[in-house]
Amino acid sequence: MSEIASGKRETVDVAIVGAGPMGLVTALMCLRAGLKVAIYERQADFAGSPAWNGTGVLAPDCEADGADATIVDLGRRSIELWPTLIPGITLNGALVLGNRRQPTAIDDYSTFVLNYEWVDEERIAALEPALAAIYSRGMFFPQAAHADPRLMFTGLRDVLEAGGVRIRFEWVGTIDGLQAERIVDTRGLGARDRFPELRAVTAEMAQVRSHKVELSRPVRLLHNRHSLYVTPRGQGVYVIGATTVDDDRGGMSVRSAGELMTHAVSLLPAFADAEVLELRSGLMPVLMNGVPKVQVGERVIAVNGLYRYGWMVAPAIAEDLLRVIYTQATKVIHAHRPIRP
Ligand SMILES: Cc1cc2nc3c(=O)[nH]c(=O)nc-3n(C[C@H](O)[C@H](O)[C@H](O)COP(=O)(O)OP(=O)(O)OC[C@H]3O[C@@H](n4cnc5c(N)ncnc54)[C@H](O)[C@@H]3O)c2cc1C
Repeated sequence: MSEIASGKRETVDVAIVGAGPMGLVTALMCLRAGLKVAIYERQADFAGSPAWNGTGVLAPDCEADGADATIVDLGRRSIELWPTLIPGITLNGALVLGNRRQPTAIDDYSTFVLNYEWVDEERIAALEPALAAIYSRGMFFPQAAHADPRLMFTGLRDVLEAGGVRIRFEWVGTIDGLQAERIVDTRGLGARDRFPELRAVTAEMAQVRSHKVELSRPVRLLHNRHSLYVTPRGQGVYVIGATTVDDDRGGMSVRSAGELMTHAVSLLPAFADAEVLELRSGLMPVLMNGVPKVQVGERVIAVNGLYRYGWMVAPAIAEDLLRVIYTQATKVIHAHRPIRP
């Protein structure tokens, strides 16, 4: 019988390695389930995770044009779970608009995505007055959410610390040496020893401030290369992104910086006068098919390959992991309802 099941405890029940979205959310779910948890992070702070520079768009239905159905399913379940974990998640939908130079692109896009309403000029103006008289046709995704990733990190840290969970930053130990009954390895790109097929893909974002623009939800203007949103952070701050560039250089290219700025101005010309606050990039962990993978071993459960969807899918994956921990299952069975026939 397992030590969790028998009630006999080692130092902690679950050691989480890696303090990115996957590690922190798993830790919180384990804590809420009554388990004793500790977190081990190699870096000195949360900025070691690419998610620190995330755009914070939680819009699985809008992403169904490029994402696997599993990701869409996990994302939809995660949107239900996020508000139960931390405050600060805004659930007021996302708007997708066609590019005026390619008017049929939105019709093509609509064949791939789910759970939307077509919106006309009047409805667009009601949802986002700043876009009135500029766009005559778009799609509204009511079940999309957004949040500020840096506040998600600090929000998760606060609830974890309030529950007595310690995050050990600058940790240099080995997974085998951890005193815990189960270990959850969420090291992202640090886990190439366990996932040899893991590769890095660069994503880039810009943060700007404009007091001339007022948007209240993520707005995606269809782009021929990237899935780009302009997302409000409050107080006139907007995040534009993210590009996805299939190489591991990690830094922001001149081309991408130009693309992000041009994109915001194409959406709304008033962005031309915005002040550039930040240009940031990060390396995301990707597996062969772009879908997250969970490896269940006797003691170590490893999760990786969250690609550009870490914030969007982490709660639903953590829910699955918790089930594995409690039932001693040898593989993950997704409990979520399939959303496609
Ligand atoms: C510009 C940009 C925009 C993005 N926008 C979004 C978005 O809008 N929505 C969304 O859902 N996702 C977004 N993402 C993707 C998101 O950041 C990733 O999917 C997410 O970071 C993956 O989470 P993870 O916890 O699996 O791994 P990571 O975030 O990579 O975390 C792994 C952690 O493990 C630590 N670590 C590594 N090795 C060790 C070791 N040996 N010991 C201890 N710790 C270790 C690392 O330092 C890191 O903190 C974006 C990413 C970028 C770069």
